[in-house]
Amino acid sequence: MSFREKISCIAFALKLCRGFSKKLYVYFAMNCLFGAAAPLVPTWFSAQIVDELAGGRNVKKLIILGVLLAVLTAGCEFLRRASDRGFYETLNLLHDFEGKVFEEHIVGADYELLEDADYQNAVKSYKIIYENNFGIYHNMWFYSKNFVQGMLAFLFSMIIIWPSMRECFAIDNSSFMSSWKPIIILLAAVASIGIVMAVIGHIYSSTNYRINKKISSTFAKFKYWFEFSEKYMNGKEIRIYRAQKLIKKQYSDFADEYYLYSAYFSDVWAKYQGILTVLQMLIMGCFYLFVALKSREGVFSLGSLVLFLGASANIAEAISLITSISYLLGMSADHISYLKRIVETPPRKHIGTLPVEKRNDNQYDIEFKNVSFKYPGTETFVLKDFNAKLQIGHHMAVVGQNGSGKTTFIKLLCRLYDVTDGEITLNGINIKKYDLKEYMSLFSVVFQDFQLFSVALSQNVTTSLEYDREKLFECLDKAGISERVSKMPNAENSIIYKDFDENGIEISGGEAQKIALARALYKDAPFVILDEPTSALDPISEFEIYQRFGNFVGDKTAIYISHRLSSCRFCDEILVFDGGKVVQQGSHDSLMQDKGGKYYRLWSAQSQYYIK
Ligand code: ADP
Repeated sequence: MSFREKISCIAFALKLCRGFSKKLYVYFAMNCLFGAAAPLVPTWFSAQIVDELAGGRNVKKLIILGVLLAVLTAGCEFLRRASDRGFYETLNLLHDFEGKVFEEHIVGADYELLEDADYQNAVKSYKIIYENNFGIYHNMWFYSKNFVQGMLAFLFSMIIIWPSMRECFAIDNSSFMSSWKPIIILLAAVASIGIVMAVIGHIYSSTNYRINKKISSTFAKFKYWFEFSEKYMNGKEIRIYRAQKLIKKQYSDFADEYYLYSAYFSDVWAKYQGILTVLQMLIMGCFYLFVALKSREGVFSLGSLVLFLGASANIAEAISLITSISYLLGMSADHISYLKRIVETPPRKHIGTLPVEKRNDNQYDIEFKNVSFKYPGTETFVLKDFNAKLQIGHHMAVVGQNGSGKTTFIKLLCRLYDVTDGEITLNGINIKKYDLKEYMSLFSVVFQDFQLFSVALSQNVTTSLEYDREKLFECLDKAGISERVSKMPNAENSIIYKDFDENGIEISGGEAQKIALARALYKDAPFVILDEPTSALDPISEFEIYQRFGNFVGDKTAIYISHRLSSCRFCDEILVFDGGKVVQQGSHDSLMQDKGGKYYRLWSAQSQYYIK
């Protein structure tokens, strides 16, 4: 990443922080100021006291200096610690704030982005940093604070030794030591060591970046296998297929790799710190040498000597801090780039503005006109010149072999994706023109890979904190699960799954499908879409649901995707998909007339297993 890009990442993070507490800036400024000043206060006062002791020995002045030394040192230290505490407390809040920003963007992102490999990569990388490194804001502010503090410490140290420096400039050129040359040599030597520190910091930073990348990816794998063996759902397959050895090997390989990189990381860090310390000593050595040589001429007072030596330690530390922190700031910018990518990715979808008319008669007429579609980043058309009309109030079945594009058809219909070519219209108007949220509210969908959340059952069905209990039970009843729910320890308030609650309810696949069906019913949308909704149901439950299907969806338009063709017979119309196109369309009886047709072949292939 170029220097400019890094600066733009830091500017982006600062911009996002703008809505956050102003206290952060106050604590930041206080911490930098008092952190830099605190060690210098005792140095300066000690020098004054030493000078007074060596000179006038004025008791009153000595007492005042002593009191000031004690009060100001304690005051500075108190303010430094207080601002330290406030600063870190605010950073913790910032960590939460950052998590919320991330969550808000992920939940609000276009669905198709979530399936985009590049985007997924940014999300994964960001999550690792968020979980393992306190988050990007914490690091950025922490490093910035150290950087500014280092700069201030350098500046303050130079300010307090400036009077002594000036004495050195009182050039008489009578000898080399009394000329301006030694001080220039001293400054040049300190600057050169500073440059060496910066170069070493840069080398360390690129090594560290490489190791960190390896550690992050190994850690992700290590974490996956660690959590994998923890999940009791995986326990069945592990035991039945005797996968213990395989899992153990995967886990221990990644664990070994992880520890190897971590050890390497610590080794490199220790070496870097060692070199830094030596260079720091070298800076101090330069100052000591300069002071020793100069003192021979009696240029320095005893106080100046104390001041010079005390400040030189601070200067050496400040240079070391500035050079080592600048690479960390650069790394922090790299980390910010992931969040920047997530936050700044523009919506891919056109967000329309046209309101969707609220109709009690559900007269919503949808048509696919010459629609072609390929998934972003792929070259193959999943749907090609696809045409279909959803008859208002009709119950339509969609059948076809795996991969023929049935689920993609539903994703386009609900605008989880937008078409590549052609258009989909609602009551004659391109669906892209409608307000996206309003348009999406027309659909209740149960996908094959539907998800239930680890919250109360009622919240799973109503997706809300407040709900109509009577309506909830009506939907649970229609989905055939109300009796089971009533018998749960906390009825509809029972928590699903044990992720967060040890009293959580474990449910079977079939029960989960019924809850998902109830959720689709509760939404009460004009279109009900069931994508293989009964695959995990036992035959009796499946039969019950089919029987109730008409009642289930009433006069709504329904789309029903199924592999069990027998269940499509009661639909008004059947669309037969093949290779991304509708190859046949009609009622069961009419389609069965075409003995050479796809539907007849699919039906015959299935029926031979039933009629025996
Ligand atoms: P069906 O529902 O008929 O089984 P799908 O609509 O799920 O078929 O898939 C149709 C084709 O699109 C398949 O070849 C599948 O691999 C591909 N596909 C599905 N989802 C994606 C995706 N997110 N990215 C790329 N290709 C996909």
